Amino acid sequence: MRWQTAVVTEIVRRSRAVSSFFFRLPEFVPFAAGQHIIVRLTAPDGYRAQRSYSIASAPETTSHVELAIEKLDDGEVSPFFHEVVEVGDEIELSEPVGGHFIWRTQDGGPVLLIGGGSGIAPFVSMARHRALAGSTAPMLLLFSARTRHDLLFADELAELRDRQDGFDMITTLTREASPPEGISKGRIDAGTIAAALARLPGPVRRIYICGSNPFVENAAQHAIDAGVEPGLIATERYGV
Ligand SMILES: Cc1cc2nc3c(=O)[nH]c(=O)nc-3n(C[C@H](O)[C@H](O)[C@H](O)COP(=O)(O)OP(=O)(O)OC[C@H]3O[C@@H](n4cnc5c(N)ncnc54)[C@H](O)[C@@H]3O)c2cc1C
Repeated sequence: MRWQTAVVTEIVRRSRAVSSFFFRLPEFVPFAAGQHIIVRLTAPDGYRAQRSYSIASAPETTSHVELAIEKLDDGEVSPFFHEVVEVGDEIELSEPVGGHFIWRTQDGGPVLLIGGGSGIAPFVSMARHRALAGSTAPMLLLFSARTRHDLLFADELAELRDRQDGFDMITTLTREASPPEGISKGRIDAGTIAAALARLPGPVRRIYICGSNPFVENAAQHAIDAGVEPGLIATERYGV
């Protein structure tokens, strides 16, 4: 594994629990949308903690790497980022890793991306990659969040959808009695996935599911219940 010491250049709040951390690397390493990076923290006494984070920036953006990190209150590494890390700090990052959960423009579509909470991060990279590369491959992002305060990258993704070039988005909120206009209410189930598949202009080529373990488990089962061939499903699980 190749490691580099990156500098935090910017921190942007994305929701009440998620912030984006932008890193400048001494040497940009090419990656594919969907890959992740391992963050390695070392305490003065030598104690080390490592965690994986999906790359949210596009492969075309070589000036920085963006990681969208959710703060888990009882966690070890994510609260450190939210409470301690500041612009100018140096953090060790691995080279990009992971080969099963990537989408490149040449992979085409239609593809369905199903993200729960911070599990939207690799899909932001895929959507940005698609736009920057000028792809018109049909791509539908089905995003589940808790409340309106947990919406991530909402303006940017709405802008991409409004281009009407084949990128579409359905957002559903699980803990919001009356969601804002254009946003659904409730959990993702087989019906939601069937409706998303019906919105695609042709048979789905691949389904990507990313989020917490239970979210991924449930969404994958619902996709199968909606008639999706299991071999078309790729998953990325964020926690046990
Ligand atoms: C390939 C990969 C990519 C990842 N990408 C991201 C990312 O882009 N953004 C991000 O915020 N996290 C991401 N994660 C999760 C991340 O690696 C850490 O697990 C997370 O930040 C918690 O670390 P912690 O040290 O704060 O908590 P820990 O001290 O490790 O403990 C927190 C507990 O919460 C569980 N957990 C981890 N993530 C979640 C979750 N999302 N929902 C519910 N429970 C969870 C852990 O398994 C553990 O039991 C990714 C994980 C993997 C494997």
